[in-house]
Amino acid sequence: MKQTTIGVIGAGQMGQGIAQAFATAGFQVILNDIDRQAIDIGLQAILKSLTQLHTKALLTEPCEVILARINPHTELASLVKAQLVVEAVSENESLKMKLFTELDQLCPEQTILASNTSSISITRLAAATSRPDRVVGMHFMNPVALMKLVEIIRGLQTSNQTYQTIVGLVKQLDKSTVTSKDRPGFIVNRILLPTINEAIFTLSEGIASAEEIDTAMKLGANYPLGPLALADYIGLDTCLNIMEVLLKGFNDPKYRPCPLLIQLVDAGYLGRKSGRGFFEYS
Ligand code: NAD
Repeated sequence: MKQTTIGVIGAGQMGQGIAQAFATAGFQVILNDIDRQAIDIGLQAILKSLTQLHTKALLTEPCEVILARINPHTELASLVKAQLVVEAVSENESLKMKLFTELDQLCPEQTILASNTSSISITRLAAATSRPDRVVGMHFMNPVALMKLVEIIRGLQTSNQTYQTIVGLVKQLDKSTVTSKDRPGFIVNRILLPTINEAIFTLSEGIASAEEIDTAMKLGANYPLGPLALADYIGLDTCLNIMEVLLKGFNDPKYRPCPLLIQLVDAGYLGRKSGRGFFEYS
């Protein structure tokens, strides 16, 4: 299985982590992004993360050996060699649909196409291809290097063989799986994002400051990170996109995104990745 070449599309925070996880487990990785600068930043972030893991004696090989397994490309055609492609581009359904259609035309018919989507329907992405049985959701958690879970989402058409192959691959990454039916937000984000959204309503209603809300949930509910700091970490644009998918998918107003979240995204305050969200980052 280690001969398997893994394609990762999107060199943002999730794509970086996914590429690093597969390379650390010994796989050859093709890391693709339309933006060359995003790839360069991504490779630097991977080296930084590997160096930190090396310092803590958590790697069995030198950082350079692992990094050398990651081959950066801006052309989608580079992915033709991959036996599994994991898509991790921005959380936008039309963008992902277009990409899955293109990948379907490009990749050999046995190639499995996976999406790291946080909330979008795997069944719909699969239906945009001629291999719906070989399309699956592979939802890594952020930061990938530290988080042990990968949520596996079976679309209506995902075959048992595809599912078993992916579960086996995740084991090789030394991570655990949970399996979710294909419903908006799956398991983790169906529960997590409404909590974050409620924290934003709590802030916008002036009930407490951002610091107090996060402290309350850390000390009062044993959260390792407050919900607003976590939103900044995930990216406020991604949080908004997920709430919109939940609202549309369930047609239930309880999932309406807080207007403050919408306003922050409109202002370009996207959290850590833009330097400002609910908190400021240097
Ligand atoms: P990000 O904004 O950090 O990165 C997205 C990357 O995709 C960018 O580098 C962008 O240049 C690239 N991209 C956009 N269009 C592309 C295309 N057509 N071809 C190639 N590259 C393209 O986003 P992220 O936080 O890494 O999220 C990526 C995916 O992972 C989303 O679906 C998100 O919902 C999911 N996810 C995010 C988190 C999180 O905590 N941020 C956790 C789990 C899953």
